[in-house]
Parts: sequence; structure tokens; C-alpha cells
Amino acid sequence: MKWKNKGHEYDMKMADLCAASKANTKICIFGAGHRGQALLRSLRKYSNSHLSICFVDNCRSLWGIYIDGVEVISIDQYLKMTNCLTVICATGDARLEISEQLETKGYHYKQDFIFDVDLLNDRMHLFLLYEYDYLIDKYVQISLTEKCTLMCRKCAHSCPYITKGGRLSLTFEEAIKSIDCYFKLVDYVEYFDILGGEPLLCDYLVDLVDYIVEKYRERIGFCTITTNATLMPGEELLKKCKMGNIVFSISDYSESVPKIKERVQAFIKMLMDYGVSYKLVYGNGEKWVDLGLREIDLDSTYATNVFSKCNSVCREIRDDKYYYCIMARCASENLYNGDGEEDYLSLNLKDEVMNKRVFYEYTNGYNDKGYLEMCKHCRGLNAGKEYLIEPGEQI
Ligand code: SF4
Ligand code: SF4
Repeated sequence: MKWKNKGHEYDMKMADLCAASKANTKICIFGAGHRGQALLRSLRKYSNSHLSICFVDNCRSLWGIYIDGVEVISIDQYLKMTNCLTVICATGDARLEISEQLETKGYHYKQDFIFDVDLLNDRMHLFLLYEYDYLIDKYVQISLTEKCTLMCRKCAHSCPYITKGGRLSLTFEEAIKSIDCYFKLVDYVEYFDILGGEPLLCDYLVDLVDYIVEKYRERIGFCTITTNATLMPGEELLKKCKMGNIVFSISDYSESVPKIKERVQAFIKMLMDYGVSYKLVYGNGEKWVDLGLREIDLDSTYATNVFSKCNSVCREIRDDKYYYCIMARCASENLYNGDGEEDYLSLNLKDEVMNKRVFYEYTNGYNDKGYLEMCKHCRGLNAGKEYLIEPGEQI
């Protein structure tokens, strides 16, 4: 989205539900189970009492009954309604099924329907920002190095394609500066991810973890080191991670690269021996999206469209810059000779227009152009099933 009123984009939207109520629109809670009922209670607590609400559910036996005074209607009745905000209250397969059901009827995520987590998180964050000047960010990454032990053909960070012009690694001082700049502005981040390339290649990783734990751990919800588990972590690092409740997020590519299977297993065993938490990603049939970063070359109209649909959550901090999309930053540096290097938000607080509300807008998709330069070369994360690929295929 293009900025039209920088720093004030959410002034009118802060009480979006109350505004919806004033316009006499209706909130449709899709899913009348426990989750839907919990949302109903929250809406009644935080929103104006005249809010018009109904439940929609695919379960026939619920149609026509009232739950906490709210009617449950069928999908056919729902489809006849206009001017309603639809909130899907379901998890896992049920959530996917409902969103597909709505998409086949021509409804679009974020335009016509949202999920309950979107509503509760966004609303709470906006409220804290406007009422208390307290800025919560959802997810941020710091890439310590773009060197890696693997050579994945479709690496989203373009690591195997780095030209001499790219900066291969941050120094310890640069990493510290990046983190300090970020936390000067952001009060709390829900998820902080240390990654690369392969971050275990960084000889200062222990010191960095120590610094984060000492200085910022209380301002971070979930903290991870993302690794491909091909290098063994040292004892000191494991102790620091355990102490600081830092979780290893293991991208397990041993299906595509069988020769690393034993290493990955030894890595996991070591974590278990030291009592360090971990989570496995890509070991259970999850796919990558082929972003097409070296194949696509289109225009700003395409970029605007793909950016609006992409929903990338992968923000990055680097020096005093906050990047909306780490894939775009990496592609710009590593594949496109810096074309698009201006696509960041300066975290320099001396900048007059920089403040927490501008940051909040940027991280929610506002910028000067309505897209990033690298979106001209990208299919986006919502490219569709035909672009799902096996993760970790090597060059
Ligand atoms: S392991 Fe990760 S960072 Fe390394 S090349 Fe593969 S995808 Fe890229
Ligand atoms: S479409 Fe743009 S924002 Fe999305 S992943 Fe590609 S470069 Fe990043």
C-alpha cells in the first residue's frame, strides 16, 4: 500500500470494529465453536455494545439456534449478506477448509475475511501503540552471514549466488548495532530469529547470544537460531541458549540431501543431551515456494499486485535499517547489483518522519511506492500450488 498520510494511516482505523458498528455493518464469526465464542466475548468487551454480530457455521444442526444470544446462520444465508466483516475462528485443516470455501465464492483474505488471530493481535498492538506509545513488532530476523554449508538451488536468500559486491557477513559490531537500533524504537518483539546463510559459521555467535540474553531477552517473546544442523554447536553456545531460553529452529533438508542425515540426527541428540529446546521445520513434507527470483523481470504494476498478495512476514534488521522483506534485500544485494537497495525503513531516530507509528505502518505493508523493487522479480509467497517445490534441492 502506498503511504498517503504517513504516520497517520491508522488514526481512523484504530477503532475499526466500532466504526463498522457505527456504519451498521455486521461482524460474521465463521465458526461457532469455543474459538468463535471466545471472540464473541472479546468483541463484547472491547467494542461498542451496539455491535451487530452473527455466527456462521457449516454444521447444519447449529443453524437457527442462538449461542449467548447470537444466531447461527447457514453459509447460504451468509452469502446473501453485504457490508459484513467476516472473521474465521478455526484452526488447522478446518481453517484452511473455510478459507478455501470462501475463496471459491470469490472472497479474498484480508479484503473480505480475516482470521481471529489477525483481529486480536492487530487490535491489541494498535491500541497499545496509540494509547501508550508502546510498539510491538511481530517477527524480525537478523542474517549474520550469507555464507552457508549447503548450496540450495532455490535458496530464498540467494546465498549460492552471491557476487563479490554483496556483503557476506556482519561483523559482531554491525550485528550489535543492528539490534541496538531496532530496540531503541521497538518495545517488544514477539519472535526474534537469528539466521543466515548458516549462522553457526559465525565465530561470534556465542557472544551475540550472550548480548541478546543479557540486554534484550525480556523484550523478546520467542527467540530462535535457525540452522540447517550441519555444523555442531559448541558447549558454550548450548549453555547460553539453555539459560536464555533460545530455541534451535532446524531446517531439516536431509530428505533432499541424504548425506547430512546423520549430522542432523547427531545435532538433535546433542540438543537433547544439553536440554536445549528445538523445533523441526521441513522434515515433515513441508514445501518451499519457488519465488522465481532469477527468472522474472516485470513492471511496477505486476510488483504492486504481487506485493499486495504476498503477505511476507520476513522482516529484517541490518545496520540502522529495517527491511520489509529479507528475500528482497538478499536478492537486491546478491542478484541484482543493489537495484532496490533503497527499499528499507531507516531506524535512525534523528530522521524527523521516523516514529513508532511510521514503523507500525511500514511493517503492515505501507511504503512510498506500494511495492518493493524486487517484487518485479518475484512470484511472492502466495504464488499458488503449482510453484510449491521440495525444499533443499542442491545445485
Ligand atoms: S541451507 Fe538455507 S541458507 Fe543455506 S543455501 Fe539452503 S536455504 Fe539457503
Ligand atoms: S513479492 Fe516482494 S515482498 Fe513478497 S517475497 Fe517477493 S520480494 Fe518479498
